[in-house]
Amino acid sequence: MNTVSRFLTDLFFPNRCPCCDDFIRWDKLICSRCHSEIVPVYERVCRKCGKEICICAEELYYDMAAVPMRYENRVREGVLSLKRGNNKNFGEYSGKMIANIISEDFSEYHFDSVVPVPMSEQSRRKRGYNQAEIIASEISEKLRIPVADNLLVKQDTVSSQHYLNRTDRMKNISAIKLKHRLNLAGRNIILCDDVITTGSTVNRCAQLLKASGAGKILLAAAAESKLK
Ligand SMILES: [Zn+2]
Ligand SMILES: [Zn+2]
Repeated sequence: MNTVSRFLTDLFFPNRCPCCDDFIRWDKLICSRCHSEIVPVYERVCRKCGKEICICAEELYYDMAAVPMRYENRVREGVLSLKRGNNKNFGEYSGKMIANIISEDFSEYHFDSVVPVPMSEQSRRKRGYNQAEIIASEISEKLRIPVADNLLVKQDTVSSQHYLNRTDRMKNISAIKLKHRLNLAGRNIILCDDVITTGSTVNRCAQLLKASGAGKILLAAAAESKLK
């Protein structure tokens, strides 16, 4: 969000910390206490799969990962505030962290597009936005790489991934499709999501993009969550 709109928004909806809900200055994304309590895990996650407990033994279609945080405590609150649809700060906060990692550690790659994991129209209407898109647009802005949100779609499904059993989860994942036949020959892509747990959603997206000719795919997610 640009400075002017952030300032104006604050007049009507005073800015709050996404992690503890305290009021914060209009130009801040998070309060300083929560910021200092978030422990970066990037050094500890696998560079390829993005998980602390490596899942590289599975067939993965993405090539590398930038995942700065663990889904717990303050981070969990931040992600939930983004999912509740009333505070986008955490999306911007995570996007900035991810962009820094990409420019520091993956500078040998040239990326052509930032692709958010799609959300069904139904869920988007409910929330007002796709949280992966908030993260994606922040990465896009910082790294000057365009967002391509017209490659993948998600058809409406029963309910959100969280409450589903294994069969329904599979159905939910296969609801993600290519929007059109695509030719992505040699295009390197930053694939963006909020939280990765099993990695199956992002892997489905990566598989579709690779099948359309995509080159390297970097998974960019705000946080990784332990498998239960
Ligand atoms: Zn806070
Ligand atoms: Zn791994």
